[in-house]
Amino acid sequence: MSLRSRLTLLYSTVLGTTLLLMALLLYVFMASNLMAGVDKEIAQQSREVLLSIRIVDRFPFPLEEVVLPDVDVFAAPDTYLQVVNTRGKIIARSQNLAGQSLPFSLRTITKGQDGKEFYQTFRYENARLRVINHPLIIKGNYLGIIQVGRSLIAVDQALNRLKLLLIIGSFLAIAVAATSGWYLSKVALRPVTEISKIATEIAKTGDMTRRINYRGPKDELGHLADTFDAMVSKLEKAYQRLQESHSAQKRFVADASHELRTPLTTIRGNVEFLQKIGNSDPEITKDILKDIESEAERMSRLIQDMLALARADAGFQLQKSPQSLHEILIKVIRSVERWDVSQTFLTADLDKAKGITVNANKDYLQEAFFILLDNAFKYTPPEGKVTLEVLENPQEVGIAVRDTGIGISPDNLENIFKRFYRVDPSRKKGGTGLGLAICKWIVEQHEGRIEVESEPGKGSTFTIWLPTK
Ligand code: ADP
Repeated sequence: MSLRSRLTLLYSTVLGTTLLLMALLLYVFMASNLMAGVDKEIAQQSREVLLSIRIVDRFPFPLEEVVLPDVDVFAAPDTYLQVVNTRGKIIARSQNLAGQSLPFSLRTITKGQDGKEFYQTFRYENARLRVINHPLIIKGNYLGIIQVGRSLIAVDQALNRLKLLLIIGSFLAIAVAATSGWYLSKVALRPVTEISKIATEIAKTGDMTRRINYRGPKDELGHLADTFDAMVSKLEKAYQRLQESHSAQKRFVADASHELRTPLTTIRGNVEFLQKIGNSDPEITKDILKDIESEAERMSRLIQDMLALARADAGFQLQKSPQSLHEILIKVIRSVERWDVSQTFLTADLDKAKGITVNANKDYLQEAFFILLDNAFKYTPPEGKVTLEVLENPQEVGIAVRDTGIGISPDNLENIFKRFYRVDPSRKKGGTGLGLAICKWIVEQHEGRIEVESEPGKGSTFTIWLPTK
């Protein structure tokens, strides 16, 4: 059963039950009210009869005789009177009874003895009859009962009409309520229908660009529609991210295998060549072995970098602790001074780093500086200059690696942090193309950012900004 049918049914049932109870209450109230009116009138008449009774003396005996009034004076077309003595004999009756008598029994006569009037209802010639039994007590003697009866035809007719009216009225009210309820629930549930329609379409087609865009009032349903839209937006974004990361992963695997194939092919070629020439020329053999060594080194560097990025992709988080920036940079400079870059000048002004503490993973942060310095030396011709400089900003510290090297064109600038991206892939000096990608990941792990400014032919500046608080 649909929600709409259930709502309509519930609504109609509640209304129907309320109407039925109201009708019942009204009916009972009207019936008892009308009956009370009849009772009051016949009681009044019986009392009047009683007041009209005369007692006369009869000569020669000092005997008194009860003289009943003419009961017809009190009768009306639907009001009947009758006087019954204690022996059960009718001693007076109104003419409209036409020789018949109001129903009574010996028990009725006996009951009158206690002097209290009482009512009875009889069925009399297809109609109900309400009768008051008024005990006739004169000078302490119980002489019989005065019965005043009234036909309840008019009352019953009025009650029957009321009953009919209530039944028809209730049915009409329920019909109107059910119809309007059916329509109203349709209007009220329209957004729900819309939401479920769109949700079904999204589930079927997988089109997550669909939205409800509900324009109605911001009630519970409006809120539901908005929440649904927000949820689909989130899902869409998550799905996009998932697809991007999936294709990035596919690209990574393809690039990685391509990158690994190159040194392997060189090594295999060299080995085959060595096998062919044997030990005939020790000079050539030495050169070839050197070549093999450098290719193997390149491969192991590549694998190391790839492993670092794979770990990063797997959600690996760096453990950090407060570190002195000055100490880290001193260690970096000492290591770099041992590198074989004697033709390039390195200057470092680290005074500003004194007293600055950063929340860092020492080894990884050093690695990030090594990557930048390694690039600076790689892409700066001999006699060039590399500078390490500390910059200060409110709540952050910048470590800039400046070089006077070949620079990077604006077109390439936006790509250099991508994996395996190299401005000039054929260049002998180029590394794995993974260095800056790793550097960026390390900086992000430190809640920092990396900036680059470069001018082709003049040089580049890479700045790592780290939060100090
Ligand atoms: P690679 O191992 O090739 O150096 P990176 O990810 O470190 O890979 O750098 C990507 C590319 O960005 C490099 O191939 C190079 O073309 C360019 N690049 C990086 N640093 C510099 C720099 N200081 N000067 C000029 N070009 C640079």
